[in-house]
Amino acid sequence: MLGLMQQHELNISRIIEFAAQCHGDGEIVSRRVEGDIHRTTYREVAARARKIANALDAMQVEQGQRVATLAWNGYRHMELYFGISSSGRVLHTLNPRLHPEQLAWIINHAEDTVLCFDTSFLPLIQAVHSRCPTVKHWIAMCDGAALPKESGIPGLIAYEDWIAGQPDTYDWPVVDENSAASLCYTSGTTGNPKGVLYSHRSTMLHSYAVVMPDAMCLSARDSVLPVVPMFHVNAWGLPYAAAMTGCKLVFPGPAMDGKSVYELIENEKVTLAAGVPTVWQMMLAHVQANGLRFSTMNRTVIGGSACPPAMIQAFQNDYKVEVLHAWGMTELSPLGSVCTLKNKHLAESPEAQLKRRQSQGRPIFGIELRIKGHEGQVLPWDGQQSGELQARGHWVVGEYFKGEGGEILDEGWFPTGDVAMIDGDGFMLITDRSKDVIKSGGEWISSIEVENIAMAHPAVAMAACIGMRHPKWDERPVVVVALKPNATLTRDELLAFYQGKTAKWQIPDDVLFVPAIPLGATGKMLKTKLRDQFKDYQLPSLSA
Ligand code: AMP
Repeated sequence: MLGLMQQHELNISRIIEFAAQCHGDGEIVSRRVEGDIHRTTYREVAARARKIANALDAMQVEQGQRVATLAWNGYRHMELYFGISSSGRVLHTLNPRLHPEQLAWIINHAEDTVLCFDTSFLPLIQAVHSRCPTVKHWIAMCDGAALPKESGIPGLIAYEDWIAGQPDTYDWPVVDENSAASLCYTSGTTGNPKGVLYSHRSTMLHSYAVVMPDAMCLSARDSVLPVVPMFHVNAWGLPYAAAMTGCKLVFPGPAMDGKSVYELIENEKVTLAAGVPTVWQMMLAHVQANGLRFSTMNRTVIGGSACPPAMIQAFQNDYKVEVLHAWGMTELSPLGSVCTLKNKHLAESPEAQLKRRQSQGRPIFGIELRIKGHEGQVLPWDGQQSGELQARGHWVVGEYFKGEGGEILDEGWFPTGDVAMIDGDGFMLITDRSKDVIKSGGEWISSIEVENIAMAHPAVAMAACIGMRHPKWDERPVVVVALKPNATLTRDELLAFYQGKTAKWQIPDDVLFVPAIPLGATGKMLKTKLRDQFKDYQLPSLSA
């Protein structure tokens, strides 16, 4: 027997129309490329999203065609998010940190028809435009007066001129909720990047999950700062989740340095900020150096790579800001788990709580996780055994865009490439990427654990642990370290710091100092580059 309830397609247009109706005066504040602070509302963003839909109609962009953005976090990007997807086209967010070659490859693979870009990315567009034949329209996200002159981009138009004459009403189409809504490519550290094509349905269900109390706990009373970029995995779904709740949204634009982010947090009374550890490291350094406090921020979501325990402690103990350590990936659009404690954990010692908060937390409802051992057996959730993490759920990839990579699922589960253990309460601890695990004497060493200890040393800014070939042990860990400005630290001092903090055989064999750890396009440490850089390195025990 079927239920007798109404059936409505889960369409993204509903989110922005809801925000316009119920939170019409809800604020959206952006630091712009132009350098100033711009203020608008959900009502205005919805009206301009409808103008975009009309402008795309005028360009005869068809349903399902890809419309690309190359932009910082800001209100125009938000308008494009909703105008493109709600009208049945596919929003394709491009990552400006990619190499021009890779960017051109992705644009061609996606067959983008229109490309909207922030003027700060003009040099990048100039480098790729002649190699992107599918793009028929290039739009600079500025007003007519700021339109770059003699850009060399054929037919370049200003965003404000593009939408100016368009009506701000639009009859949003009802699209099948399984239709594509947005497209994001994986970072592509191995091989070509692959496209993950999110649907209206997956985006909507993901947004519901993001706002849940044990996830990001968003409400109309919040002021939310997504430092995590809208150009990668939809800023962790925050533009949609925020519009669903009507919370104030604060966009940092291109200014991601500690001072600018801190000022925005204080001036706009931000209660929740979300970003990767490297961003918070810059901000904490600024706050610590200047003796500052947070007057409104009470929680911060940290993910994208493992949050060092020293950062959790600094936020929680020194600044009374709760850290919500989250795990996700492009293939999960991206949120998979968030670390929030249960009642019974609040009675635990501060040390036990800190240990728990280092984990990537519990899966959010809608995502199922399992771990698989070497022999392909499904492992129990005992907090001891680790194996490859697999996920399935409403917002997990089924296959890549254009079938790249072929069949990717294992009995319906997506193999994440992460190595993790899960305890009986569902708390998941990522110990490594499977390709980064160090195998020493038949045992596995977690590179994240080795890095976390180094990063707890006050002189260390960033640490990356990589495995070096060893004839007897297979591999031995070495830690590559970048020091904080003006800090001094010797190899022996750091190795001594490890004593008593981990098993003896897990202590790295050597410390290699570098001016900076190379980061990839999504802010993660590029261990491939480090391995390359140190390919001729000899472990001290071997060169002796
Ligand atoms: P991306 O698809 O670029 O978002 O990268 C996803 C990958 O980032 C995951 O598979 C993990 O390896 C890593 N990652 C994301 N969040 C965390 C976290 N909180 N701790 C450790 N690794 C993480």
